[in-house]
Amino acid sequence: MVEPEIVEPGAVEPGREEAAEVRRFWAGLGLPGLIDVHTHFMPERVLRKVWEYFDANGPLIGGLAWPITYRAEEAERTAVLREFGVRAFTSMLYPHKPGMARWLNDWAVDFARRTPDCLHTATLYPEPDTGEYVREALDAGARVFKAHVQVGDYDPADEQLRSAWGMLAEAGVPVVMHCGSGPAPGRFTGPESAARVLARHPRLRLIVAHLGMPEYEAFLGLAERYPQVHLDTTMAFTDFTESFMPFPQRALPRLADLGDRVLLGTDFPNIPYPYLHQLRALERLELGSDWLRAVCHDNAAKLFAL
Ligand SMILES: [Zn+2]
Repeated sequence: MVEPEIVEPGAVEPGREEAAEVRRFWAGLGLPGLIDVHTHFMPERVLRKVWEYFDANGPLIGGLAWPITYRAEEAERTAVLREFGVRAFTSMLYPHKPGMARWLNDWAVDFARRTPDCLHTATLYPEPDTGEYVREALDAGARVFKAHVQVGDYDPADEQLRSAWGMLAEAGVPVVMHCGSGPAPGRFTGPESAARVLARHPRLRLIVAHLGMPEYEAFLGLAERYPQVHLDTTMAFTDFTESFMPFPQRALPRLADLGDRVLLGTDFPNIPYPYLHQLRALERLELGSDWLRAVCHDNAAKLFAL
């Protein structure tokens, strides 16, 4: 059981003051706002269960103390992102068992309809009708998928997912995959399974969630090998994550070189610190304003044609 000391992420508390600071951050870079490719919106009762899991320090979160900073009603959560100036975000949802993905996808269609700044998100799970509902989601206009290898406890190279990856690769629709072994490893987490998927589908627009933590360097290697592979920054470089899964300093030049394929992600609202801290954590890498502009907005704007 890991029990890191949570470092105080800064004086700014969530609220009005934080929104002003977040806006100053992107305005200072000359950006029109932020694009956050990794935020969680899901049916209310599913989200409550996720929060209960975090509250109970469940094994999948590595037994960590994980107070949710933005625990609020859905309308309030979207309002917070808008106050921050997040121009586009996602509704990352994911099944932990068969028979659940289609229902989540139906919810996500409705959420995207009533939330124009949300990139219509869909999910999948290895089961007999995966290909069918992935096709339906694409036809309904899904612009990004989420796959959670750790919570779903499946092999992303499972035969039942093969046609789905093929369709996503062909459609050029990115999939954000939690495939790293953080915060706790799963049976199929780690770079090997993801590498097997890419070997079969080299054009798949895989977005490695959480920068692949803690296997950062292996996942950087996949991005270097496959030009369609991106990485999201979700929770990386924050005091919280650095305390138990530090990013290796020696890999910073590689991260700089991949600056056109790193995308801002945050895990809002399920984060144990203010949103601003993720931005400051990127800033303090000192990779420069061009890198920050690309990561916080321009790369995602290009990928999603926004
Ligand atoms: Zn997440």
